[in-house]
Amino acid sequence: MTKVITVKEDSKVLKEAAEKLAAGGLVAFPTETVYGLGANALNETAVANIFVAKGRPQDNPLIVHISDREMLEKVVRSIPERAERLMEAFWPGPLTMIFEKSEMVPITVTAGLNTVAVRMPSHPVALSLIQKSGVPVAAPSANLSGSPSTTRAEHVIADLSGKVDYIIDGGACQVGLESTVLDLTGEVPQILRPGGIGIEALQSVLGEVRYEPALKDSRQVPKSPGMKYRHYAPKAELFLVEASDRELIEQHLADYRQKGRKSGVLSCGGHYEADILLDCGQSAEDYARNLFDMLRKMDELGADVILAELPKDSGGIVPALKNRLLKAAGGQVLSQYVETKTERI
Ligand code: AMP
Ligand code: MG
Repeated sequence: MTKVITVKEDSKVLKEAAEKLAAGGLVAFPTETVYGLGANALNETAVANIFVAKGRPQDNPLIVHISDREMLEKVVRSIPERAERLMEAFWPGPLTMIFEKSEMVPITVTAGLNTVAVRMPSHPVALSLIQKSGVPVAAPSANLSGSPSTTRAEHVIADLSGKVDYIIDGGACQVGLESTVLDLTGEVPQILRPGGIGIEALQSVLGEVRYEPALKDSRQVPKSPGMKYRHYAPKAELFLVEASDRELIEQHLADYRQKGRKSGVLSCGGHYEADILLDCGQSAEDYARNLFDMLRKMDELGADVILAELPKDSGGIVPALKNRLLKAAGGQVLSQYVETKTERI
């Protein structure tokens, strides 16, 4: 039985959920990025249950969520000076760092790797839940593997009701995309997954920071195991298109109408004669915040095919937004024909 609870960070029911979490249960909770599906990171059976509930591939490691420095010291072997500076600038917040793992962390969490990904979320409910549980919390996104991540409690209920002990409703997530994953174990810090913190912000603290080469060329094997899977995909077929290419969008919509396919457009401001038209908002941040919700809405409303406009701006959250769009669309971008892009950002 899954209990759905709506809480403030100081409420009594949150204590109940935290105790269940510490004792080996599964608790879905809001963070500022997306909803997480948490288990006690030091309990191997609990962690294994996450993979079962999500249908997650065994070789895809989990991020360990912490609420204070003491927890960090428990799960990592050492804390490099670069990490200290990043923690100062971005924690709590949407930055995940890769460290060498300590003995305490079971390999179920790291999928056999000797490194561990760690993040301190800024959402008050997430922080309070972890703190009350008293243990580091392993948590991937709280969705069924492959489907769009969850950014509202309704999404979590749709995907995981009956499979977890608690779902904590904290409303809509603020960032809407997952954290930036940064590998600090090599000479030059590398972004393995673009996310809530942009490369420019990281460079302003560290100097040199690079994207992992597989983000620029999907024919290379990514260093972050999760990046190789089809991900975030709606049931409808999804194509991306440049926001300025109005004519192309209209041509395709006319074609779908003729073939009797129910069409949807994620539009950056323009009006289109589609069966379902959803507006991505005023900025790339709005688009990012609403992306997964809009993809899920398209499925609920029965779209057969979706055209999503690519964001116009660059920098900040945009590489993360493009990365999720490209993944969700399987790299399919419309130009005169359908092109399959090899870049991931
Ligand atoms: P999720 O929690 O579902 O958003 O996925 C977590 C992401 O972090 C996946 O892309 C994982 O492959 C990545 N990740 C977690 N731990 C590690 C690690 N030790 N090394 C590299 N990538 C990791
Ligand atoms: Mg995920």
